[in-house]
Parts: sequence; C-alpha cells; structure tokens
Amino acid sequence: MDDNHFATKALHSGHDTKSTQGTRAVPIYQSTAYVFDDVDHAANLFSLAEPGYIYTRLNNPTNDVLEQRLASLESGIAAVTTASGTAAIATTLMVLLKAGDHIVASNSLYGGTYNLLNVTLPRLGITTTFVDPDKPENFGEAVQENTRAFFAESLGNPKLDVLDLDAISNEAKKAKVPFIVDNTVATPALLNPIKHGANIVIHSLTKFINGNGTAMGGVIIDAGTFDYGNGLFPEFTEPSPGYHGLVYHEALGPAAFIAKVRIEGLRDFGAAISPFNSFQIIQGLETLKVRLKQHSQNALEIAQWLSNQNEVAWVNYPGLESSKYNHLAKKYLPEGQSGIVTFGLKGGFDTAKKAVNQTSLFSLLANIGDSKSLIIHPASTTHQQLSVSEQLETGVSQDLIRLSIGLEDIEDLKRDLKQAF
Ligand SMILES: *Cc1c(COP(=O)(O)O)cnc(C)c1O
Repeated sequence: MDDNHFATKALHSGHDTKSTQGTRAVPIYQSTAYVFDDVDHAANLFSLAEPGYIYTRLNNPTNDVLEQRLASLESGIAAVTTASGTAAIATTLMVLLKAGDHIVASNSLYGGTYNLLNVTLPRLGITTTFVDPDKPENFGEAVQENTRAFFAESLGNPKLDVLDLDAISNEAKKAKVPFIVDNTVATPALLNPIKHGANIVIHSLTKFINGNGTAMGGVIIDAGTFDYGNGLFPEFTEPSPGYHGLVYHEALGPAAFIAKVRIEGLRDFGAAISPFNSFQIIQGLETLKVRLKQHSQNALEIAQWLSNQNEVAWVNYPGLESSKYNHLAKKYLPEGQSGIVTFGLKGGFDTAKKAVNQTSLFSLLANIGDSKSLIIHPASTTHQQLSVSEQLETGVSQDLIRLSIGLEDIEDLKRDLKQAF
C-alpha cells in the first residue's frame, strides 16, 4: 500500500493535501450529502460503476482518511469506521452471520462484547461457545457444523491475556471460518494481528487511538485474506437481493466482506461515525506510536512498583516476568504491552472499593486509553450485570482493580496510589 514506516503513515496515509485545497490538517467535511453532476452520475454511484460520495451514513471524505490510514497501519486492504467499537463488532457480526449460525469466542472479553454474544445475539438465533483461549486447540474443538466465525481479543480487557494469534488462526483456517480479532488494547502501534493470520481486525477508536477521551468511534479492517467462496458463505456467492443481485465474492474478490459492511452494513444498521469524531480521532492517531511507548513504559514501572507494596496481593501485567503471558508478550508485544495494569489488594472486594474511592489523580470512570490515568473496580461497575461465575470467566475477580496508566509523571501516580491504600 505504502512503503513508509508506522510513524510516518500515522501522520500522512490517506490524506492527499491537493484534494483538500492544500490544508495540512485533515478537514472536517460536515456535510450529510453530496451534489451529483447529473442523474447518470447518481445512477453510476448507486450501482458502484463509479466511486464517489453519496450520503455520510455510507461514506464521507474525513472518515475516508481515517479509514485509509487505519487500514494502512494494520496492513489491511480497506476499512470502515463506525460510531463506536461496539458498533464495529455488532456490524461485523450482522454482516457475516445469520440466524442458525455459531461463533467460537474467547471467554476473555470486554464486558459489552460478552453480553452481545451471550445474551443479545442468541435472541436473534446466533449462538456462541466461549472457550479458554490459553489452549488454542479449544477453538477447533468447539467448532460445529454451523460455525462461521472465531472471535477474540489480542490483549484481553481486563484479563490482559495475550492471545496466541498464530496458533488460533491455524485453527480458524482448518475450520474455514474468518478469525476476527479485537485489537483495541494493543493498538496497531504494538501489534498487527493481520501479520499473524487474523482476517478481520476491529478497534474501539474511543480508547488509546483517540487517546484523549474526547470522541467515540470504531473501525472494521479487512485483511482481504479470507476466501468467502469456500462454500460456507452463500450470502457472498449468491446474488444479493439487498443489492440488486450483486454477487459479492465474484464482483469484489478479496474486498467482498468490507464492501458488504459498507453498502449493506452501514446502510441497514446505520452505525456511522460522525466526521467531527473522525477528525478528533485522526489527531490522536498522529501521535499513537510515541504515546503507546510511554503508556507501556509507565505501566510496566507501576506494575513493578505495585509488586513491591505490602498492601498488594497480586499484580497482573504481561510485561512482568511473573506473568503467565510473559512468553507470549515477548513474541507478540515486544515493543511494549500497553497501558492497562490489574491488581488485587489484600482484603478483597471492600478494600478494593475503598481504595478506588480514595485516588485523586486516577479518575474513577468506565474507560481506558486516555492520556489521563483512570481507575475502576469492575466487579462493582462495568461487570456488575454478570454473575460472579461469569465475571470470573471474563477474568474479573471480586478484588480486581483495573488501572489505565496515563502519561502523567510516574512519581505522582505512585504517590496517589500509595495514599489511597
Ligand atoms: C471499549 C472496548 C470496546 C467497545 O468500544 P466502544 O467504543 O466503547 O463501543 C470493545 N472492545 C474492547 C476491548 C474495549 O476495550
């Protein structure tokens, strides 16, 4: 696509300044629709005979830059942005699956995703078997005749398990289903799942990629490597009644999935991102590499420091030698393991709640990936809808405190935590 390295692409990919009157910043195209030259031009756009903009739910020049830039940074062929990370996951699954289909998913997932797969999709006839991702063969063993996708997080939120992407993508190849990876916590600055066999990569752009806690967004990136003509995906090989008989696999080849995401997924489910949010996220993306380096360095130092505090029962960070995921972190995340650290205090649930109430630099809120440090006690907040056993399955123990380590001075962060204990 583009021979430049990551830091350069993060600043330049997808933006041709000549096409934006020379503006060095990517402009916000705050327009709902686009004037057609004439009726024939409009007809060509609608029939895909000619590329161009129609309506901002489907495409927009600001969103376009963000999409091209993210596709380039993840080594994908194309991308579609969405209103949130959740919208990216839901849209992907709604485009790919139908009633009667089955997913094999990691049990270490973001709480909202777990609920989508465990409660909401079964209502629509799409079921999921959750497996322990530490044993990649579990994915293959859970495959049924109707399995049509594997889903997992490259670095689980909040369990911080590092996925063995190479091994699980092999299982997906054997099952002839696309391997969908949520790469939100690692970000493309630290890990490219497509280089390890992922077919579709999803991000919540709300987190580290925006980086300032100012805008929500999501993205679906297609590696273009999955063969939808393998006999298991008739929606891609038979004429689509939803798009005047288009046969996606035949007409669009490797871009079949991402094209269907845009022309049917955005059209029918409508979860488009606002161009203003795209603009904000582009500002964050420009500095992603340097920020993730510092987030990772700060998180490692806090994790090491926590390990030496009397009040602390356990610390989990994949960059620690003591982590059971350290060998996988060395392989998949050699440049840093991102900014999330979890730990438990001696005293469990009540002590955890008390400590979380006492911090001042760390803000108590339900987000990660801000430049400001954040803290939460998932068992009493983000994961409270899950039963205790479901909480444990997604990696949340009663005493677990999740930190999202920001870019403040590390000594100030340590002092804030120490006084809270
Ligand atoms: C936050 C998050 C999501 C959901 O993203 P939103 O932008 O909040 O909808 C999905 N996956 C992971 C890993 C997340 O951390």
